Amino acid sequence: MLRIEFLGTGGALSTPRAGCDCRICAEARARGVPYSRNGPAIFVHGPDLLIDTPEDIGHSLNRANIKRIGAVTWSHWHPDHTAGMRIFEALNVRLWDWPPQPVCTPVFIPQGVQADFEQWMGLAEQIDYLGSQHGLIKPAVVPDGGAFDLDGVTVEPLRLPAAAAKVYAFILSEGDKRVLIAPDELHGWEPPDDLGHFDLAILPMGLCEFDPLTGARRIPAEHPILGLEATFRQTLEMVRALDADKTIFVHIEEPDQQSYDDLMTVQRELQRQQPDLGKVSFAFDRLSVMP
Ligand SMILES: [Zn+2]
Ligand SMILES: [Zn+2]
Repeated sequence: MLRIEFLGTGGALSTPRAGCDCRICAEARARGVPYSRNGPAIFVHGPDLLIDTPEDIGHSLNRANIKRIGAVTWSHWHPDHTAGMRIFEALNVRLWDWPPQPVCTPVFIPQGVQADFEQWMGLAEQIDYLGSQHGLIKPAVVPDGGAFDLDGVTVEPLRLPAAAAKVYAFILSEGDKRVLIAPDELHGWEPPDDLGHFDLAILPMGLCEFDPLTGARRIPAEHPILGLEATFRQTLEMVRALDADKTIFVHIEEPDQQSYDDLMTVQRELQRQQPDLGKVSFAFDRLSVMP
């Protein structure tokens, strides 16, 4: 039985942001969850699949009291999703054992992510260091169009068109349940008609080019980020096209300046004013859902 836990629902900049004194960060520092948001990571209980390893993944796993990780995969190479790759040293090594008897975690790397790992920030070298040098992970590259199975759950990486990186969403299926998990980077995506029905879709909320409540412009129209990242309004069009039973938004950026309470208001207003979106909500850290 699938259960999805949101370990971290922040974006490239998590909340509170170090050194920041804005109202969002001050509130998050004072009140913690659900106002604070760790870096982007999702855990699928059942197959015990961890999707993405942000730099604070150790804190997120401890907080969620997760003891077993069945496998790990990555949506794309960006540092907010990979900078915590060293977590396998904490998980799998007993440092004073001799001879060493490390535990080995299977990791599944979508083909395009592997290509980017070879190009960026020494990530392929880190995989090699953890894998062939220390035996803490067992890497397998998943070719585009391929899938992997974990405890009766099929996980199919789905390549997205974003230009910012080679990016994947994941389609998880178990029996007749289907879940789409897209941790980030929906820019330019038009959900194809043949994608099928999802019981649950998890999508990055997108940038708040306009304030979701007041409609006031928040990001200058000429800012280059708008040519690279999907906006919240564009994401809502994708929600309509996908027509999943439920949609939950993640990857909530501190610079978008939406507090937990603000987003609960946005959620209520969306349900009231745009019922054709279906059931939409915003995730918060430690939220756990069954599709
Ligand atoms: Zn990200
Ligand atoms: Zn701040």
